[in-house]
Amino acid sequence: MKCSKCSALCADADAACYACGQPLGGLTSRAAQSTYRLAGVFALLGSGAGVFLAEAYAKREYIEGARILFAAVGIVVGVTLGFVVGWLTHRKGEA
Ligand SMILES: [Zn+2]
Repeated sequence: MKCSKCSALCADADAACYACGQPLGGLTSRAAQSTYRLAGVFALLGSGAGVFLAEAYAKREYIEGARILFAAVGIVVGVTLGFVVGWLTHRKGEA
């Protein structure tokens, strides 16, 4: 959708214009809040899972770096998953 204020092209799921911050009404602010919360929870789970995987699979001599790397990847994957799940959940609820 196009921003009503500055005409920047924004994703339908964006709660606000990335260019000027104008609310777009794609997600309600409450829905956006719970999506952020979900993303946070998923990030925590992802980092936990990453550390667990590092413990399970990484070589002993690389364990410190592997923990950090796996945790970082887990956070990124978790945040992405959280946003996708949150977005799908709210989209379904609105339809
Ligand atoms: Zn805008």
